[in-house]
Amino acid sequence: MTRRTPVVFAGHGNPMHALSDNAYTRALARLGREIGKPAAVVCVSAHWLTEGTRATAMEKPRTIHDFYGFPAELGSIEYPAPGSPAVAALAREALGGAVELDEGDWGLDHGAWAVLRHMYPRADVPVVQVSLDIARPGAHHLALGQKLAVLRERGILILGSGNVVHNLGEMVWSGRAEPHAWNAEFDAFVKARTEAGDAAALAGDPRTMPGGALSVPTPDHWYPYLYALGAADGDPVRWEYEGLENASISMRCASFGL
Ligand code: ZN
Repeated sequence: MTRRTPVVFAGHGNPMHALSDNAYTRALARLGREIGKPAAVVCVSAHWLTEGTRATAMEKPRTIHDFYGFPAELGSIEYPAPGSPAVAALAREALGGAVELDEGDWGLDHGAWAVLRHMYPRADVPVVQVSLDIARPGAHHLALGQKLAVLRERGILILGSGNVVHNLGEMVWSGRAEPHAWNAEFDAFVKARTEAGDAAALAGDPRTMPGGALSVPTPDHWYPYLYALGAADGDPVRWEYEGLENASISMRCASFGL
């Protein structure tokens, strides 16, 4: 039997975690060491929203600093991982061909590099980003995740980067902020359905799920979880990090098939 490369979902939350050394970043670093160096990473980030699906296909993706109002130190981070036109072509094939290859526009946004610089600090694993066709419903994204599962047989790590709960309008800027009840409720619902192997229960409109209306006010940070769940293809979950931050964010991180 060939062992399939595990799948990872990383909550990324505040971009400042890219510079931090804390329990969350150490969990990512430990996970990277445990998985080892994959042949490549295909990352679906909450921060690349497009019409139709695109995949980065340049040799040298630029580091994109897609945030405002943060210290200059964060804006000067470079994550010089190579791209891979070959892996981009494989991703397009896996997704059925309806993917536009991007050879110059995008690069690596902070959804990708803020996580990967902890998992693979040497930036020596090729990274391809796949965008979110944001107008499509959850079931579409779950299905695309399922199609990406085939890449795991080639040693490619599928990484979803978003947040299970992400409501910036309800944030509380205090280290000791109690989570909103709906944050804990939706986070627990997702945990339970995932452990039950019930991906279908999570593929619908999150606003109809317990705590979902306020936990997923927009679907951009939620959909990457569905890619990971789809690519997991029934493999069991292991929670790599759990924590509710700033009242309205879940930093839940998962691996599947590890
Ligand atoms: Zn984000």
